[in-house]
Amino acid sequence: MTETGSQPDMWSQRLGALEAGGTKFRAAVVSGAAASGALEIVDSVMVPTSDPETTLAEVVAFFAGSEPISALGIASFGPVDLDLGSPGYGSIAATPKPGWSGCRILDRLAHALNVPVGIQTDVEAAAVAEQLLGPQPSPDRLAYVTVGTGIGAAVAVHGVPLRGCRHSELGHIPVRRVAGDDYPGRCPFHGDCLEGMACGPAIAERWGVDPADVAERSDIWQLEAAYLAQLVRVLCYSVAPGRIVFGGGVGNQPGIAEMIRKSSVSELGGYGDYSVDLDDFVVPPALGDDSGVLGAALLARAQLASS
Ligand code: ADP
Ligand code: ZN
Repeated sequence: MTETGSQPDMWSQRLGALEAGGTKFRAAVVSGAAASGALEIVDSVMVPTSDPETTLAEVVAFFAGSEPISALGIASFGPVDLDLGSPGYGSIAATPKPGWSGCRILDRLAHALNVPVGIQTDVEAAAVAEQLLGPQPSPDRLAYVTVGTGIGAAVAVHGVPLRGCRHSELGHIPVRRVAGDDYPGRCPFHGDCLEGMACGPAIAERWGVDPADVAERSDIWQLEAAYLAQLVRVLCYSVAPGRIVFGGGVGNQPGIAEMIRKSSVSELGGYGDYSVDLDDFVVPPALGDDSGVLGAALLARAQLASS
């Protein structure tokens, strides 16, 4: 991305970025001072997600041992309280993950690192990064979907996550069961919602396989695409994004984007003028595994700009 800001000193700062995932945290120091003006990850570490004390202590230790950062952006697993007026702003809301419900992740890191800190969901940050740092020109509305241990999605509109009173929870939309599929679903709240039917662990349980090892099983991926295409339909008919990026472990499965495109064409049934069959509509992440962490860096930079 080419920088056009009028405060070059600000852009040459080191930015802290934290992608807080359900199985691992990735903390990174990001430079915005490369000759091209592009963000560059200069140092990073993976920390397993255990209890908040242990995990956050390791994150703080990483930043303490790195070049000083000027601000931190957190791209967190959800649900997160993102209501600025709420006493719980910046904390993890009720979650089945042991120890994390109510964890004041933003306050704790702001206090420990003594820098401005911003927070978004992991998919919000990834959507913003794919929109601002991915292929240009990018559409005004870009959706990012992660399909991994869970399913989450967010829409970036001109670099800002689309949000209502809360962040969206598009992984939990109801889905129409594919004929012949009698898998009950595994969402603890809804059973057979999209996440319950199509997250990585659902594939593993339904088929008795490790999803990472069955690239050749087109039956598995066709069924997966049939469920994910129902989310494409919901996105098209609600916010009409110009691009939908599928990331996460399952989203990175080779060939799945093409299958989702094909399933989406039949899912939409020809109603409405959507470009779901185009190669640049349903795509893998242009930023690879870095979308979330680079989105967190953009958020850190936004903290500097506003402080
Ligand atoms: P997380 O959800 O914790 O951020 P991932 O996005 O990597 O992590 O998702 C993990 C899930 O993705 C697991 O269910 C795993 O089996 C599945 N997975 C990992 N790699 C692949 C792959 N290459 N193809 C399909 N599924 C994968
Ligand atoms: Zn659900």
